[in-house]
Amino acid sequence: MSSKENNQQDPGKNTPPADDQKLKNYTESQLLTRRMDEIQNKIMVLSGKGGVGKSTVAANIAVTLAMEGKKVGLLDTDFHGPSIPTLLNLDGKRPSSDGTSIYPIEYLEGVKVMSIGFLVPNRDDAVIWRGPMKMNVIKQLLSDVNWGKLDYLIVDFPPGTGDEPLSVAQLIPQSNGAVIVTTPQDLSLNDVRKCISFCRQVNIPILGVIENMSGLVCPNCHHLIDVFKSGGGQKMAEEMGVPFLGTIPIDPNIVEASDKGMPFVYHYSDSEAATAFRNAVQPLLDLESRTGSDMPAPREEDTPGNATRIAIPVVQGRLSPHFGHCDEFAIFDVDLEKKEILSEKALEAPPHEPGLLPRWLGENNVNIIIAGGMGSRARDLFAEQGISVSVGAPSDTPANIIQTFMEGTLVLGDNVCDH
Ligand code: ADP
Repeated sequence: MSSKENNQQDPGKNTPPADDQKLKNYTESQLLTRRMDEIQNKIMVLSGKGGVGKSTVAANIAVTLAMEGKKVGLLDTDFHGPSIPTLLNLDGKRPSSDGTSIYPIEYLEGVKVMSIGFLVPNRDDAVIWRGPMKMNVIKQLLSDVNWGKLDYLIVDFPPGTGDEPLSVAQLIPQSNGAVIVTTPQDLSLNDVRKCISFCRQVNIPILGVIENMSGLVCPNCHHLIDVFKSGGGQKMAEEMGVPFLGTIPIDPNIVEASDKGMPFVYHYSDSEAATAFRNAVQPLLDLESRTGSDMPAPREEDTPGNATRIAIPVVQGRLSPHFGHCDEFAIFDVDLEKKEILSEKALEAPPHEPGLLPRWLGENNVNIIIAGGMGSRARDLFAEQGISVSVGAPSDTPANIIQTFMEGTLVLGDNVCDH
């Protein structure tokens, strides 16, 4: 990565690729799928509350990955004061558009940035939008922004575990998982517990927890001063059974770099905090190697056109309440927009060996599973395969379940075997 800060794209140079013209005929959800297909790894950065350094962490993760030679997009969906433009000294920039696509701001070589902050004249304006308007804006950002091919999209989420992060999470298909940012204080750790439960409820795998502002590096003697009793994040991550990605100390240069809009990890690459960021992104870099030969064949292979493939575990002709105990899977290819079944078949379930079903369903190009009960480990494995899972479906016939699912009237109850 070379030092090309703030070398924004010249709008005149943003000539759309030839096939961009075809996109004019796409529906919004087709566009969204197509845009997301260009992105290999989608990482969500969440926090239980605001002010813990979520945006700082998201921005520095993005720059660290770019310094590893990756093509990275940074998408700021935080309505509560979208701070990415300020953190990166991009305030006042406006992305260009050609009527079909919006082009993100090229911040550094390898890092493109898009923020709600670019769309509103005053950074606080977006807070007052009503819920549906916020979601339309996110939907539009996801479907209209032309990132080109990316290795990683880092999504800076709205803080907390309310409706906003939930809706944003639902709009991003096949995310690789979430990085949760916390600080060492007790209250913040309680918030992060809620954040972990939130991810589990919506089937987002948790890539790990980062404890930010963990101790202060003394500017004079460079010793670490333990200001807020650090280490709680690691303990809590162990208790909750999620990976711990490390601690980032308080470093006055982070504030200075943010205020000047400089990428901290780039300019202070020898600092303890920059080393901590490099260590923290290692599991994200490992995701890429997992998308090689280990991963199922591309989904388009035998799924017709715009079809979504849905699998339902079946025992004696009805949905199997326990996922691992089914005899077969009812497989439906459906057009979710037209609410039409395109084809259906039954596949005999493979032997019930640990870890086999996620791989097998991935190889069969399944996009969605509708299940009764399923353990959290299995749900994590499916999420790693980019397969989304709805649990708590009733023990009805597959035909009724698929019909109500397409109509949006399928009632989901409790997960009957969450072990
Ligand atoms: P959030 O997105 O959680 O609301 P921000 O990323 O905007 O939080 O950070 C809030 C403030 O804290 C910013 O001024 C940022 O520069 C500062 N900050 C974040 N992490 C650190 C750190 N490790 N050391 C020093 N300052 C930090």
